[in-house]
Amino acid sequence: MNRKFKNLTLINKDKLYKLAYIDPITNLGNYNAYLERVKEKLEINSKKTMIILDIDKFKSFNKEYGHTKGNELLKRVGEEIKHLIRKTDIVCRLANDVFGIFLVGEVDVNDITERLNKNISRIYIGDRWYNIRISIGIYICSKEEKNIQSMIDKAIMAHDSIKGKYNVTYGVFTEEFEQKMVKENEIESMMIEGIENQEFEIYYQPQISTKTEQIKGAEALVRWNKDGKIISPGEFIPVFEKNHFIIKLDQYIYEKVCIDIQEMKEIFKEIPKISINISKESLFEKDFLEKYIKITNKYNVKPNDIELEITERTTVNDDKYMKGILEQVKEKGFGIAIDDFGTGYSSLIMLEVMPIDTLKIDKSFIDRIGINNKEVNLIEIIMLITKKLKLKTVAEGVEKSKQVEYLKKINCDLIQGYFYSKPLDFEAFKNYIKENKNKI
Ligand code: C2E
Ligand code: CA
Ligand code: CA
Repeated sequence: MNRKFKNLTLINKDKLYKLAYIDPITNLGNYNAYLERVKEKLEINSKKTMIILDIDKFKSFNKEYGHTKGNELLKRVGEEIKHLIRKTDIVCRLANDVFGIFLVGEVDVNDITERLNKNISRIYIGDRWYNIRISIGIYICSKEEKNIQSMIDKAIMAHDSIKGKYNVTYGVFTEEFEQKMVKENEIESMMIEGIENQEFEIYYQPQISTKTEQIKGAEALVRWNKDGKIISPGEFIPVFEKNHFIIKLDQYIYEKVCIDIQEMKEIFKEIPKISINISKESLFEKDFLEKYIKITNKYNVKPNDIELEITERTTVNDDKYMKGILEQVKEKGFGIAIDDFGTGYSSLIMLEVMPIDTLKIDKSFIDRIGINNKEVNLIEIIMLITKKLKLKTVAEGVEKSKQVEYLKKINCDLIQGYFYSKPLDFEAFKNYIKENKNKI
């Protein structure tokens, strides 16, 4: 080939390589480069450690100081990491503010995280120092491990495990994680089939009025019946929340409940209000309300027959966006209940700001009745606030007559728990209503 052209192709190759493998902001390798470089190290016979590092609140940093400063910060963090690791180790920027580090040889996890934290906690950019926080996930690779994506996933899981924990800056992937992951994968592999085969069933748990002993409501609770074996929602709901399958499940459950309500309306003159759990993921979905209203109308059910339960975690204080959604939901005629009250981090202001009808007091408070005087006083204070705000109260997980007596005394409105009934399948629930017909 003509020398001139040969040079040209070389330049292009170089450029192409850069485009494909180099992150222009930090000059480090990118995700592709990380995969390739780690692959090269896999054959080396010594200890290997995969680290995922990201900058806390990087989005806010960008917003506050602008993208140029943001880019500069990424560059500086990349440089700091590079200084701290050996030449034979790897650091790349995998995405946004996420760095992948791969260490070959003996590593003292405490030491490396301490040094990373220390060196990155204050970064000088241009004209001043910035205080930075980072989060780190660590996977100490097993000898047999050859799947790089799976190594990254494990480091990410370790990283995610410290989310929300105060003053914890790194997490390490452990055996427990491994087992959890196997289980999650198993659940994920069965879920689509689960809906197709109608394996998700609905149970109803009655809610009884403390004043009249009438059935005034019931909560719809999902059960996964996999070949006769019941999997509890505590096992699969968190997985579905993570992979967003919960949006599909919520809608499926909602439709099934509407079908049941339609049938009950044909049998009984009056039916208890049915509470349905709705996840944050569903609420935040585009067209959520339109879709749910359409289903409601399809079965001649009225929004007024239904109360939507959202967990306290979902309503982050006076989150304007959430408030807007809930106001629309309320406008259509649905009731709104705050689930697991007292377990989340929301402030009391939320109760005043959000358009709520009902407060469900978490079982953990009920369990302490008669045991810890202080907690009991807390329930009384919650009751005072709810009465002032004209909210209905439901006590959850009530098992003992002593608890019922106490809840009656402090004027809690409804009681839900094994004391009256466990969640019942639809047939048993209809019978329960029949037997207590005069009680609705
Ligand atoms: P949750 O909404 O707080 O539901 C109450 C849980 O307490 C239910 O567990 C219920 O069976 C249980 N429970 C009720 N009374 C008693 C009692 O007296 N003693 C004890 N020990 N437990 C009692 P379950 O059915 O296992 O549901 C667990 C969680 O799964 C629910 O907590 C809810 O957050 C979620 N979940 C259940 N069904 C659905 C659903 O259809 N959609 C969504 N998004 N989440 C659901
Ligand atoms: Ca609930
Ligand atoms: Ca609850």
